[in-house]
Order: sequence, then structure tokens, then C-alpha cells
Amino acid sequence: MAWFKREAVNAEKKSKVEDGDKTVKTEGLWQKCESCREIIWKKDLETTHNVCPRCGAHFRLDARARLALLFDDGKYEEMDGDLRSSDPLGFVDNKPYKERLIAMQAATNLTDALISARGLLHGRKVNICAMDPRFIGGSMGSVMGERITRAIERSIAENVPIVVVSASGGARMQEGAISLMQMAKISAALMRLDEARVPYISVLTDPTTGGVTASLAMLGDLNIAEPGALIGFAGPRVIEQTIRQKLPEGFQRSEFLVKHGMLDAVVPRAEMKSYIAQALQFFIG
Ligand SMILES: [Zn+2]
Repeated sequence: MAWFKREAVNAEKKSKVEDGDKTVKTEGLWQKCESCREIIWKKDLETTHNVCPRCGAHFRLDARARLALLFDDGKYEEMDGDLRSSDPLGFVDNKPYKERLIAMQAATNLTDALISARGLLHGRKVNICAMDPRFIGGSMGSVMGERITRAIERSIAENVPIVVVSASGGARMQEGAISLMQMAKISAALMRLDEARVPYISVLTDPTTGGVTASLAMLGDLNIAEPGALIGFAGPRVIEQTIRQKLPEGFQRSEFLVKHGMLDAVVPRAEMKSYIAQALQFFIG
């Protein structure tokens, strides 16, 4: 059993670096579902695209896995990968923002919290931007904002539909007002996209909160979410303290939001690609 133990220890070390997700505990080759308590062999999660095979809970997906899932044959071209944050505020919390960025880049093999890509989806040209919740909570700073804006501008110029998959804690505080400006910049670009009559599909995944919800995530021609995703602006505790009322069951989850008219549909991960393809067929023909 020694080899097995060693493998497990190695895998655990590795998973600690790769997996910044706080909701799912990783233990070596096995992962426990926080929803149904099932112990799942991690290899099984590859075939289900990180969905619990027992209860269907949707665990978080990193940006590369997301893009591979949506593009035909998992192939895509990455765009604007050379953009980097300039740390405009010289921000320091418990460590300098510059160092935090370098550490995150090393841990995730990403340059920022979003990959902008283009490729084919069911044979149709499409631009897809996917956020990565591991990279400083998927927070939106200048790089994410600029990558999305440029993707929208390419969509307008080339008449190619755009999909943005959100997974974000909101605006990145380390870039202060610069982060907040991305909300207005992207929203303005989306208005031009709308005027050009090019479709935009917003996919909201766990978690989509703060400034991302308050701008691009809710501005799609179609706003669709994965099952059980936390979607909101402020967190439930802040709201409860402010309004001094207990919040209803399931508040700020996808299913609740669809029921109350805030979203168009809840779409399981396995059906997401064909759902988007069908929607684009409907919009464009
Ligand atoms: Zn489960």
C-alpha cells in the first residue's frame, strides 16, 4: 500500500496548488461532494466535466476546461494573451499586488482571471471569454475588462456572436476605480454590439457576484446559468443585516432567479454547448 499512499500524498500536494476552490475539499485521488457527501474518484469527474455523478452538483470549472468543453474538438485560439496589469495603485495588502499576480500566474498558468478565445462551436465562428475562479477569485480588473471589450469589438467588426462565461467575485479591489471603470467600458461596448445586432450570450456559473453581475453578466440577449450557481450582487449576510429580514430558501441560486424572472434558463453543464448552438441558430439562422 506504500505506493498508493505516496501517490495520494503527491496528488494532494498538487491539488493544493491547482485548486483554489474553497467549496470542494480535495483529498488526493478522491474528492468529497459537499452537496451529497459522496466520495468521488477524481478520474470520474473528468468524464462528467466536474459534475457530481451521484447528485449532479456542479463543481467549479477552470477557464481552460470550460473553453475545451464549448469549442469544437476542444480547439481554440487565445486572444490578447499579452495584456498584463500595470498595478496602477501600487497596491499592498498582506502582500504587494505585483507579487500576488506573479504567484497566481505561477499557480494557475494563466496571465489573468480570464481567457479570451475564438474558434468554432457546432461549426459556427464564435468568440468566447471564460473567467477562472481560481485567479484572485475570478476578479475583474483592467486586463479582464480590456480582453472582454476587445472581444466584443472583434465580434462587432466581424459579425461573430460572443459568449462570456462568468465566474467571479466581482471587481478587483487591488485595482480600485480602474476595476470599476471596466463595468462601464464593457457595458458601452455591449450597447454597440446590440446596435450592430450581433448576439451576446451570458453564461453565469458559480459564483457570479458583485460588479460582474452588476454589468456584463446580466446584459446578455440571453442570460443562462448552471444549476445551483450563486448569483447576486452583495452577499446574503450583508443583505440580511441591511434589511433586517431572513432571506428565503434558495435565495441567490440560479433556480430561484429563474423563478423570479432574473434569468432566462438554467442549463446543465453537459447540455450547455448544444443549448448555446441552438440559441445562436435561433438568433442568426
Ligand atoms: Zn453529490
